[in-house]
This record gives sequence, structure tokens and C-alpha cells, in this order.
Amino acid sequence: MSRLLKDIATQRMYILFDMGVASVKSGRIRYAKRYGELIRKISMRCRVAIPKSIRRWICKNCSVIMVPGFSARVRSRRKGKTLRVVTTCLVCGWMHRYEFVRCRKDG
Ligand SMILES: [Zn+2]
Repeated sequence: MSRLLKDIATQRMYILFDMGVASVKSGRIRYAKRYGELIRKISMRCRVAIPKSIRRWICKNCSVIMVPGFSARVRSRRKGKTLRVVTTCLVCGWMHRYEFVRCRKDG
């Protein structure tokens, strides 16, 4: 797989993600799931990792695009340098946990 094709695959994932977000906002959850599935398929078929900024918002359980306030609930809690974020998929109820540690010197 050439570099160019990988770039195209990544671009497609971003486009599908945007379409998924729009679907969620207009209440078309089924479409949003389809877009999430397509992003995963492209990633597997082209062996390209899903960009981190997108991957966070695709439900691991049902593949729906998670949009805070629409199809997801986001809770964050800061403990010292660690920021814990829990994203709950409102479609299937799956909870995704993320931890961020601030690495900046002044943090
Ligand atoms: Zn889900």
C-alpha cells in the first residue's frame, strides 16, 4: 500500500466521521453506526490506523459515532496531573475510559 493511498484512506475516514457527526445531530443513529463501521473497515482493509482524534469518538462496542450531548456523555475528573475522562455511549451504554497525563514542565 503506497503512501498516497494511505493518505486517501485517512482522508476518507475524516470525511466519514464528519458525515457520522452530522447524522447523529439529525437523529439518524443508524447511519452514524454505518459510518463508524465503514471507518473501521477502511482501517482494516488499508491497514491504516484510525486517527486518534477520530478513534476516541467511535464506540468500541456498537461502532456508532459518539457526539457529546447527542450520542455520548462525557465526564472528566482531574486528579493531580492525571485527567480521567469517561465517555459513555448513549446508544449501547458502553463506557470508554481514557487517562491523560500532562507532560509539560509547567504542568
Ligand atoms: Zn455504543
